Formats: sequence, C-alpha cells, structure tokens
Amino acid sequence: MLIWGWRTRIYVLAMTTFLCGRCGNPAAHAVRKAVTKFTLFFIPLFPISVKYTAQCTFCGIENRIPKEDALRLQAQEEQGQARQQAAPGYPPHPSQGAAPQAGFPQQGYPQHPSQPQGFPQPGQFPQQGQ
Ligand SMILES: [Zn+2]
Repeated sequence: MLIWGWRTRIYVLAMTTFLCGRCGNPAAHAVRKAVTKFTLFFIPLFPISVKYTAQCTFCGIENRIPKEDALRLQAQEEQGQARQQAAPGYPPHPSQGAAPQAGFPQQGYPQHPSQPQGFPQPGQFPQQGQ
C-alpha cells in the first residue's frame, strides 16, 4: 500500500513596504514562498509547485508575485538589515546617559543646608566644658 500526499511549507522571505494594489495603503507586505512537495510515506520527495506571494498586512489580501520580484524584495530586505547592523554610531550615547547620574551629586547639595543646624551643637561643647 502506497501512502502519498503533499505538504506545503511556507517561508517568509521578507517584510517590505509598498503600495497595496487593493486597499491603496503603503502597507507592510509579507513576502512568502510556499513550496508544495510531493510526499511518499510522509517523506517530502520533490517540489510540485513553488508559489511566491505578498500579503498586505493592512487588508490581508494575498497576491501572487513573480519569483523575480520576490527575490528582489528579499535581496532589498537583506541589504537593509546589513545597513542597520553596520551602523555602530549609537555607542556614544551611553556617555550622554551618564549625564543624569552626574546630576545626582548636585541634588545632594540641598541636603547640606540642613547640616548647618548641627553647627550650634559643636558650639555647645565649650559651654559644656565650662
Ligand atoms: Zn492592502
């Protein structure tokens, strides 16, 4: 007895923003690759069909797109991620974050005027000494 069927796996290639053809919003689209494979005894053997789709996250419509478009969008996304990772300009900011901490000693000064109230007490020593 032969047990056969097919299985579809979906890969998200990219999240990209472009104008939706249905709702007209410049919404994020999930670019997906759906690979349907023929299975024999639940073992995927060879792909029956490969579909590339872009689903609008605003209205939910899913459009078939050419493979070339999907690969181009995926490449664009990977380039965009590479740019974000290659931007180490942020480390200088922690020094700015330390500035508020430097302000705390200044907040401590108002506590000192309360100490002058203690000065009359040292002055009491001579009185106690007499
Ligand atoms: Zn839409």
